[in-house]
Amino acid sequence: MNWLRNFMAGRYGADQLNLALLVAAFLLSILLGLIPVPFLGLLAYVPLFWGIYRMLSRNLLKRSEENQKFLFFWNKLKGWFQRKKNRINDQKYYRFYRCPGCKQTLRLPKGRGKIRITCPKCGRVFEKKT
Ligand SMILES: [Zn+2]
Repeated sequence: MNWLRNFMAGRYGADQLNLALLVAAFLLSILLGLIPVPFLGLLAYVPLFWGIYRMLSRNLLKRSEENQKFLFFWNKLKGWFQRKKNRINDQKYYRFYRCPGCKQTLRLPKGRGKIRITCPKCGRVFEKKT
């Protein structure tokens, strides 16, 4: 394995973006395999070769910048999904209302009957059935 170590010396190697590219290549090759269009499956090689190119690259700074951008985007995406999931869980126990004054979304526990709500943002008082 000495030649491999020598070969990889000074090269960028693996990071999260490369892993994502490999996964994307894998998923694309499956998905595109379902579509009966000739050569369409070759598209799956795009993320694969990009990943290999990045792995062998000697421009470490540029590659790590790309990875940082990817992680930033990825965390945003993860946060968005997490919020959606929380919201769906919340709907079992809470109802969501929009304040008629400032349009702020308010979360109220379900099954309390008619209650008087004070908006924490603008202070407007209104009544709702929960
Ligand atoms: Zn309000």
